[in-house]
Amino acid sequence: MNRRTMLKMAAASAVLALGKQGTAESQSSQAASDNNQGYKHRVAFGAWINDMRNEPLPLQQWPAPQFDGQTLDSLVCALKVQAEAGFKLLDVWGLFATYGYPPDIKSAFEDEGRVQMVRRLIEAAEKLDMRIMFGMGLLSWGYDKILEANPGIRGVDADGKPHAHALCGAKEESWRCVEKILDCTLNNFAFGGIHLESCDLGCCMCPECAGRDGQVGYNVRMNARAAQHIKSRWPHLTVTAIPSNWLPGNAGPFTPEQEDQVVGLGSHIDCFMDQGWRGTCVAPERRKAFISRLPCAYGTSGGIWMYHCARRNRLSYFMPYPKRAGAAIREHYGDGARGSMIYQGPMINPAVEMNTAVAGRLLRNPQRNAQDALEEAVEFYYRPRSADVRRAVAEAFCTAEDAYFDSWSDELKKDPHRPGEFYVETLFAESPQRSQYLEQCLTPKGRGSYRKGLVAVLDRLSSLDGQCQDEGRLSRVRTGVISAIVDIENLGYERPA
Ligand SMILES: [Zn+2]
Repeated sequence: MNRRTMLKMAAASAVLALGKQGTAESQSSQAASDNNQGYKHRVAFGAWINDMRNEPLPLQQWPAPQFDGQTLDSLVCALKVQAEAGFKLLDVWGLFATYGYPPDIKSAFEDEGRVQMVRRLIEAAEKLDMRIMFGMGLLSWGYDKILEANPGIRGVDADGKPHAHALCGAKEESWRCVEKILDCTLNNFAFGGIHLESCDLGCCMCPECAGRDGQVGYNVRMNARAAQHIKSRWPHLTVTAIPSNWLPGNAGPFTPEQEDQVVGLGSHIDCFMDQGWRGTCVAPERRKAFISRLPCAYGTSGGIWMYHCARRNRLSYFMPYPKRAGAAIREHYGDGARGSMIYQGPMINPAVEMNTAVAGRLLRNPQRNAQDALEEAVEFYYRPRSADVRRAVAEAFCTAEDAYFDSWSDELKKDPHRPGEFYVETLFAESPQRSQYLEQCLTPKGRGSYRKGLVAVLDRLSSLDGQCQDEGRLSRVRTGVISAIVDIENLGYERPA
């Protein structure tokens, strides 16, 4: 019996073990996906190739550019969990370049070692009935070396100074670069989709670019042009556009005029992914009406996510959030969202695995009870001895989740632009850094309360020794919880009353 057969059997026994209610829900889940209901665009989002790496790169600046055997093995490990959860696409950045394609562009696609890695990744995805989505920095990520060689196409920033990264979208030569990257990628590799991102590193503010249309209008125009180019040559590809930094500090909402501009973009793309780093660009109270006017699908990133850092020991934190992401997935679906890009991380970390496992199951059937999806995933990956053990493992995840998010500062809880995205540690450094997630969102009092919850998780875990056939997962949970407690001890905290 190979591992795959065993996993299938585990899945079948999970359905049986869930009992009457679970069985009914699992059947309705299957029926829902058979009827093509649920989220249509179920995207697991890398983001960069080594963000999902199962071994750390402790001295590596972000984003880590290397594509080695460990990168590939980690991506394949992530793909398996994603496929088992029902994701259809893995959207991943940095396959051929991070900040800088070479000035001739095509040599990036002629590095035989790298090309083989990408082909093996695409094949691994296809075997799992998934596809790889190509992350495309549209006039923003990937042009630093091109701009050094050809300063004439460099954009300008808000002060009129040369932009550090962005091309000027009004220059046709800039578009020759964009089209060459697309041609090299899409003519030679069997990607399933393209993620367009035009402003993550900023965009050109000259009088013919954002200086003319405003930042949202300009980015809409650039994305529409790129999407038209893609759809005219590769009409089968899923095209998404992501409004990262279209608004200052990613803090919404769009004005009604900006909403109208994005509705215009909807005729050219398959899904507008309003991720929600600091709340979504479309205000929640306007979401339903906006979606009803949008010609394409609308998507989010499930309301809350941790951004993982390749420098960090992969088991040095434990951050599950299946309940909160599940609630957002359900709410956004109710408003009409049919796209989702769920942030990934190192799958060796059991909280990352569970976040992916539960989110994917809920995207297939957003009406489903999140607890039911969580217990199904526990059954599948932990193979508990009994229903009581299954519930106890699920409870350990929920206790850790509540302990962190319930401990957020009152100020942050009330902030209309509260993250969305929060960080294990700062992205920009060349050695491991302190735990930003414990300082960004928690006061000393909050850390004391989080610490108390984590100690309760350890206590719960001690009763589960020998109760699961989980391939070391509970042991990894324990490692993460212990490390987080030590971090809190080192940072300092206020003991709860
Ligand atoms: Zn310009």
